[in-house]
Amino acid sequence: MKLGADRIDVSVVVPAFNEAEGLPRFVEALDRVLAPLNVRAELVIVNDGSRDTTERVLADIARHRPDVVPVNFSRNFGKEAALAAGLAVATGECVVFMDADLQHPPEALPEMLAKWREGFDVVNGRKRRRSHEPALYRKFAAIFNGLMSHAVGGDMAGASDFKLLDRQVVNTLLQFPERNRFFRGMVTWVGYRVADVEFDVQEREIGSTKWSLGGLIRYSLGNLLAFSSLPLVAVAYVGFATVGFGTLLLIQTLYRYFTGTAAIGFTTVIAVQVMLGGMILTALGVIAIYLARMYDEQKQRPMFIIRRPRAHQPPGGGSER
Ligand code: UDP
Ligand code: MG
Repeated sequence: MKLGADRIDVSVVVPAFNEAEGLPRFVEALDRVLAPLNVRAELVIVNDGSRDTTERVLADIARHRPDVVPVNFSRNFGKEAALAAGLAVATGECVVFMDADLQHPPEALPEMLAKWREGFDVVNGRKRRRSHEPALYRKFAAIFNGLMSHAVGGDMAGASDFKLLDRQVVNTLLQFPERNRFFRGMVTWVGYRVADVEFDVQEREIGSTKWSLGGLIRYSLGNLLAFSSLPLVAVAYVGFATVGFGTLLLIQTLYRYFTGTAAIGFTTVIAVQVMLGGMILTALGVIAIYLARMYDEQKQRPMFIIRRPRAHQPPGGGSER
């Protein structure tokens, strides 16, 4: 760990995919907010394999600025990977994650830092309203956030990747070996002292969203699968339900057999069908449950996380603003 004068107070991590056009404006806006705060800051920009001139723009920005740390991926690995890289590279006592398109307003930073100084370890940027986003997108986000809230065990409504994390939380997340990552969910999962700061989602002014509907669905499903073995366990539930339903059917068939209203041979066929089908599904379900457990185990998440008192006293003392 760096000591004394070299220490970075705030790292800002920014994933950037084809953001050449907007990047200089973003850096400018961020500087304007950071300058009066009197914090030692670094800016980690992760170029996620952009196909435009992001890499060159980034190099130009970094040339005269030792506080800008460019990271260039060999190809497009996706935003989650970019966030993970930023997490690993950032050296600050706290790390702020924000988008490059100014949809996460830098103006919210002072409030987030104030919360951090108050002693909060995680400061979530929460979207106040989604009126700028298409109705379908909002509907989709609501469903996804509902499912995720359930899987993660925390409120994910309005959750965004706009977050401030204390060094301790960063170090905890760095210990997570899982490869299918979902940043928002993991941050909720680890706990710590959490505060929210609301912000308005601005319209994207430069460039275009990197999401297609298909991409969004893939992303959501992937995250859900990364966080929950619910779909596997669902197989078991379907199995149990089938056996239950089959048993009822069997009882009805037997009843008709004994009252003599069933066709010859019919009873045997039904009984064999139901029993076999139910047994097969149940067996599959049992396998699924074990598989679900193995899936959870192989993530090797820590069983618990201990929160220690902070070693580092953030500059600026109490809240300013
Ligand atoms: N991004 C990235 N890799 C990708 C897609 C997006 O690093 O494969 C970055 C992008 O440059 C931006 C942030 O992730 O800084 C959010 O992307 P975008 O604005 O397209 O998503 P939206 O705001 O529509 O959710
Ligand atoms: Mg955006």
